[in-house]
Amino acid sequence: MAGPQYDRPVIEFSTVGRTYPGPPAVEALHPCDFRINEGDFVTIVGPSGSGKSTLLNIIGLLDSPSSGTYLLEKIDTGAISEARRAALRSERIGFVFQSFHLLAHRSATENVELAMLYQRVPRRERRIRAEAVLRRVGLEHRLRSLPTQLSGGECQRVAIARALVGNPSLLLCDEPTGNLDSKTTESVLELLKGLNEEGMTIVVITHDSYVAAQGQRTITIRDGFLTEQVGNQVVR
Ligand code: ADP
Ligand code: MG
Repeated sequence: MAGPQYDRPVIEFSTVGRTYPGPPAVEALHPCDFRINEGDFVTIVGPSGSGKSTLLNIIGLLDSPSSGTYLLEKIDTGAISEARRAALRSERIGFVFQSFHLLAHRSATENVELAMLYQRVPRRERRIRAEAVLRRVGLEHRLRSLPTQLSGGECQRVAIARALVGNPSLLLCDEPTGNLDSKTTESVLELLKGLNEEGMTIVVITHDSYVAAQGQRTITIRDGFLTEQVGNQVVR
């Protein structure tokens, strides 16, 4: 299992909070501290409105905290230009969403290739890398299929392949099994666990307690407050 042999931080939050100005102002994320290391598999669970998307958007550099410091791989994300943040986001973070976000008229391979369009990867190399990562997620027999010809679980595998192809340091998944039945959910979770065992750092946001229980660590968010159970103790 990945885990203890790594202690390189990927995400470090110190007193990171987010208040939406309003009016009325909403303190969606109360100032919090946590650290996620390379090779961690962390689930973040909370009910609707608890602040999951707020947290995900900050981790994913889609939004900025209103207080505190967020280091991504030791880089102070509050101290760099918007252009540098956008570059970090595209190079270091792979996003996986509930609704897959695949282009309907493009094959599995083309959907993955599109993720490399702005990374100056030559066309031939794009194809080679796309096919390799689709093999890695178990879709070697589906390279030419369109999303409409794929099951929900296969579409999510294409989306995971697309997220991985740029070689990110962090895979950030927002309700990755939200549209899947329980059997398919299981297979996507197995895929994520396998990637984690190969060393990928994974953060899964979910409102599903079964999915949450699959993480090595589970952080609970409620009304913008984070808690983490370690052994039988609640810390923070
Ligand atoms: P979740 O993803 O867990 O459902 P959110 O992070 O979307 O929760 O929302 C947390 C809280 O912040 C909620 O009370 C929500 O209404 C509020 N909120 C979210 N986005 C905004 C925004 N852009 N402006 C004001 N309030 C917001
Ligand atoms: Mg949300």
